[in-house]
Amino acid sequence: MSTCLFCKIAAGEIPSKKVFENEEMLVFHDINPAAPVHLLVIPKHHVTSMQDITEADAGWLGRMMAAIPKIAADNGCRPGPDGGFRVVANSGADGGQEVGHLHFHIIGGPRPWAQRV
Ligand code: 5GP
Ligand code: ZN
Repeated sequence: MSTCLFCKIAAGEIPSKKVFENEEMLVFHDINPAAPVHLLVIPKHHVTSMQDITEADAGWLGRMMAAIPKIAADNGCRPGPDGGFRVVANSGADGGQEVGHLHFHIIGGPRPWAQRV
């Protein structure tokens, strides 16, 4: 049994507000949103951080990145230059990472909101 928080969320052992899911990835609402839209994108398999990414991860990681614009638009981030969103991956302690399972924050929604993450 994994002790990793986001592995438990991916396995459905801890509930989350899911907005998108496929075989490889899960997207759910951050429990402590820093903006009107604050989603977390995770791989379903355990990867600790971007520090562990190699060329071998290009496939699933590329598909994950390619999925983000539509997920953002479907969840309240206005498309186009006047809208948009931020994608943030805090990596390691010096990167401000608190949960040790790779995740991409999608942060957006109509401004103003205080940039925190
Ligand atoms: P980090 O600082 O590691 O980049 O971000 C971790 C994020 O996970 C934080 O924004 C925090 O609010 C969120 N988070 C921590 N625990 C939970 C949880 O149990 N459920 C959800 N949905 N988000 C969580
Ligand atoms: Zn994990």
